[in-house]
Amino acid sequence: MSTLEIRDLHVSVETKEGPKPILRGVDLTIDSGRTHAIMGPNGSGKSTLAYSLAGHPKYQVTSGSVSLDGADVLAMSVDERARAGMFLAMQYPVEVPGVSVSNFLRTAKTAIDGEAPALRTWIKDVKVAMEGLRMDSSFAERSVNEGFSGGEKKRHEILQMELLKPKMAILDETDSGLDVDALRIVSEGVNRVRSTGDVGVLLITHYTRILRYITPDFVHVFVDGRIAEEGGPELADRLESEGYDRYLTGATA
Ligand code: ADP
Ligand code: MG
Ligand code: MG
Repeated sequence: MSTLEIRDLHVSVETKEGPKPILRGVDLTIDSGRTHAIMGPNGSGKSTLAYSLAGHPKYQVTSGSVSLDGADVLAMSVDERARAGMFLAMQYPVEVPGVSVSNFLRTAKTAIDGEAPALRTWIKDVKVAMEGLRMDSSFAERSVNEGFSGGEKKRHEILQMELLKPKMAILDETDSGLDVDALRIVSEGVNRVRSTGDVGVLLITHYTRILRYITPDFVHVFVDGRIAEEGGPELADRLESEGYDRYLTGATA
């Protein structure tokens, strides 16, 4: 059992005009085996939360704490966070020209586990995971994210998650830009990982659509850099019919 604890997290982003406060006191506890959906309007700070947890240097934590099983995540480098079991599927995955998917995955797995995976099981694991995500085997020889379609990028993120087996997976708008078939395939991948019961999932999304495939245990409405309301899956249904308007009255954004 693993627990990620976010306490009163305040984060500013580095801009040309100086630091701009974005997160204004986020409190959230995620246990392995649980899926939390964070839903909020554009610009509310969802990606800022994801990047802050992953350790992106542009995001400055000004106060608060983040711990994974009691260990201080904020004191860790990006690499150390990954080795500790944190995984981020980015909203906009970056291209890595000249590095094949196959090499990238093996290098990441080796770095995270501290030893190279046994070749025979690894090749089989990659094959099974790729088949599950309906990825052609030729995909493994392409450069990471270079010329990938939106759907291919998101499948590649989920492929990483399935193979790296993190303790906490942060999925930032993994649903955006997917057609309904790709959404179903990606959701099935997330559900396979969930079903192990070993991973906590923070599913960040703007739309309720993905929650028809991945039923969250908890839903948090994120507005203006903090959680404005929380509840169970029924809260997503209400957002579906009512939208975010009721939360935005009086907001400074
Ligand atoms: P969301 O993911 O909910 O759409 P973001 O975390 O991307 O929100 O952005 C939250 C706010 O922070 C927005 O007002 C955005 O313009 C600002 N912001 C985020 N990153 C940067 C950056 N690198 N430079 C300047 N402003 C930023
Ligand atoms: Mg956005
Ligand atoms: Mg975002």
